[in-house]
Amino acid sequence: MIRTVLRLVPDSERATVPRYLAAVVVHALAQSVAYVLLVPLLEALFRGDLASAWGWTAGVAAAAVVVAVAGYQQAVTGIRIGVGMVHSLQTRIGDHIATLPLGWFDSTTAGRVSRLVSTSVKDAMGVFAHLLTPMVAGVLVPAGVAVGLLFIDPHVSLAMVVSAPLLYLVNRWGRRLYGRAEDRVHTASEESNARVIEFAQAQPVLRAFDAATTGNRGLQEALESQRREGRRLVWASVPGLVVFSSLVQATFVGLVYLVISQTSGGSLSAPAAIALIAVSSRFIDPLNQAAELATAARGAANAAERIRALLETPPLDEPTAPVRPQDSSVRFEAVSFAYADGATVVDDVTFEVPAGTTTALVGPSGSGKTTLLRLASRFYDVDAGRIEVGGHPVDAYPSTTLMEQFALVFQDVYLFHQSIAENVRIGRADATEGEVLSAAAVARVDEIVERLPDGWDTNVGEGGTSLSGGERQRVSIARALLKDAPIVLLDEATSALDPQNEAAVVRGVHELTRDKTVIVVAHRLSTIRHADQILFLDQGRIVERGAHDELLAAGGRYADFWGERSRAAGWHLVGSATTADGSGK
Ligand code: ADP
Repeated sequence: MIRTVLRLVPDSERATVPRYLAAVVVHALAQSVAYVLLVPLLEALFRGDLASAWGWTAGVAAAAVVVAVAGYQQAVTGIRIGVGMVHSLQTRIGDHIATLPLGWFDSTTAGRVSRLVSTSVKDAMGVFAHLLTPMVAGVLVPAGVAVGLLFIDPHVSLAMVVSAPLLYLVNRWGRRLYGRAEDRVHTASEESNARVIEFAQAQPVLRAFDAATTGNRGLQEALESQRREGRRLVWASVPGLVVFSSLVQATFVGLVYLVISQTSGGSLSAPAAIALIAVSSRFIDPLNQAAELATAARGAANAAERIRALLETPPLDEPTAPVRPQDSSVRFEAVSFAYADGATVVDDVTFEVPAGTTTALVGPSGSGKTTLLRLASRFYDVDAGRIEVGGHPVDAYPSTTLMEQFALVFQDVYLFHQSIAENVRIGRADATEGEVLSAAAVARVDEIVERLPDGWDTNVGEGGTSLSGGERQRVSIARALLKDAPIVLLDEATSALDPQNEAAVVRGVHELTRDKTVIVVAHRLSTIRHADQILFLDQGRIVERGAHDELLAAGGRYADFWGERSRAAGWHLVGSATTADGSGK
């Protein structure tokens, strides 16, 4: 534990650590000296030898002064290191997260990071602030007492030396049981944290579909699993605690028995016996205390381990000799990819998107279309093959240069807890007020703003929950317009938007993609039909490719798909008497 936690100490506090550890050790040793000196002190008192008693009292007092001074030192330095650690870890975690591949962020990330930054960092800090001192005392005070007694009564001393490793082993076993259970509780509570956040953010969607009660199944399952693991944790801590404290009491009884049998054998005086029994209890107390803290220490060690694991999650490799793009083409060459926990979802995919052309990705749900967009923008690194952007492999660019090439309009639009204007400005931080407004106007965000109580300054709420899905997409298009990047990665809305949003989105996308290289996960028939190249995907493979007319003429999977979708759209046209689907264009 100590080593893992020590690695998290910031450089600025590293020099304090030896001073802190020295104070902790001196504090514990001085306590054991004070306890051991009680034996001759009590003996002298019982004998009525007051002169010696005063001498020993002076010794005990001197040890007590050292305990006080060292105690003060360890408290001050411990808190200083702890506070420094919290501050530096929160900054380091923030900085490190910014370097991680985008693919690292998923639905559980928010819960995971928020727990790390709040609870885990404080748990790890507790080691210095209040855990280590009693833990070290729990080992050193009994050891010091045992060694000190060697000069007074070797038998009792030996009995202590023999029982200590046994106590240690039982304690370690108990901590292991607890540690494993604690890990499971942590994972379960991360999951439920994430589900709570998701449930809160998704309220408008859930209510719109009358699913506010049924839609929280994931949350309920996560909470149930957390409760189950919490119960298991309680049970896991029982065997270790019960066996350990029984053993501690048995050791004490054994020591008392030893002292009494030596007294009745005549080898120990009655005053010495009383003093030894008193000191034996001092041998036991710190052990008990350390055992009680061991579970907290184990929790702190787990917390430190989780922080370390996050800080050691490899960031995206940044190239040593960065390149600049030659154009805005994109090329996939024999690319295969699987998500960390699953089967291959992109299987030997090769295609080229020449600069300034549009490629539509079409195919059944789950066939890997969205994944291709994520791979192009290096959310993840591929498992095999390579992806080139602007004539160079994606990993030859510094991540900022690569991201400069792309404007992303994905379905899961995240809006910050800021005004609409600030949310559009995310597209390009240094854009002028006029540029923000004109990008917003193209995506008809101005029309949304007119309806909001504080106009442009209206705060859109956490995650943009005060806007509808279509409206959020318009803000995201405005951001992309403002960014004006040469390659547009677009994930079209799968669900039909209301006519007003649909018209605004179509217009925004039209402007956004003009003269750009576009890869689009296409659902609208007009987008598909006008694409320069259509890739039909199934189970991660490209099964057909070509332009609309060629593919229709070929009469394969695409032709079937087109037939079905056109019939559905036609039915929709008649049924709703609108042209919302846009298939007629
Ligand atoms: P499409 O866009 O064609 O619907 P996706 O690219 O979203 O397909 O998904 C392809 C496959 O990858 C699916 O089986 C999906 O469940 C899986 N998948 C998508 N995203 C993730 C993820 N973040 N982690 C694990 N599996 C994922």
